[in-house]
Amino acid sequence: MSYKIAQIRLVSSHPEVYEPCDDSFALVDALLSDRNNLLELKPMLCMEVGCGSGYVITSLMLMLGEEANGAQFIATDINHHAIKVTQETMEAHGVYAELINTDIASGLENRLAGSVDLLVVNPPYVPTPEDEVGREGIASAWAGGENGRSVIDKILPVAEKLLSKRGWLYMVTLTANNPSQICRQMMKKGYASKIVVQRSTVEESLHIIKFWKD
Ligand code: SAM
Repeated sequence: MSYKIAQIRLVSSHPEVYEPCDDSFALVDALLSDRNNLLELKPMLCMEVGCGSGYVITSLMLMLGEEANGAQFIATDINHHAIKVTQETMEAHGVYAELINTDIASGLENRLAGSVDLLVVNPPYVPTPEDEVGREGIASAWAGGENGRSVIDKILPVAEKLLSKRGWLYMVTLTANNPSQICRQMMKKGYASKIVVQRSTVEESLHIIKFWKD
């Protein structure tokens, strides 16, 4: 989509920070395709876990624009270089989010419990040996352990805790992550789901799944 090229300029990069790729674009396209519903939802607290370069959270803030007046934005990343690059991306676009260098939402659960209306996640989802998960460096951006589920399976219970009753979660998954099993697992917790964007590249088949309380 031309939106991603036209709207977001990355003013800085770092060898250990994930550059926006097909998965980032698919996530932004999913949010864009649901923009009218998001505007109706009027999310008061929006959050991204794993913000990387800041491409997704900055796109989200720009697409909600003035109509999200009063909304608060928070983004976390376990990689402190990502926090710095996201800060620079946001500054270049005149938007602001609270940025926190932490593991998923560690230290924020009590403060944010039940209050996040919109949560977006492009997690490390690539199947890798388990010992590659959470290593220093750029590998932590994609290394997802067995079936690519290690970090996803840690994020889901945190998402349940943080989401408000009307909250929506958009998450990137790969076929290898077994998205239908993830949807069944979330259904047991009371969440409906649908695939908002499905995209196949030479290397992978991506699904952007939206979850909401049924
Ligand atoms: N959201 C960005 C995008 O779509 O371009 C980056 C996505 S990249 C696939 C995954 C991001 O999650 C990386 O920036 C990585 O540092 C971060 N990450 C990995 N494990 C994490 C964790 N346990 N807690 C927070 N962030 C994590």
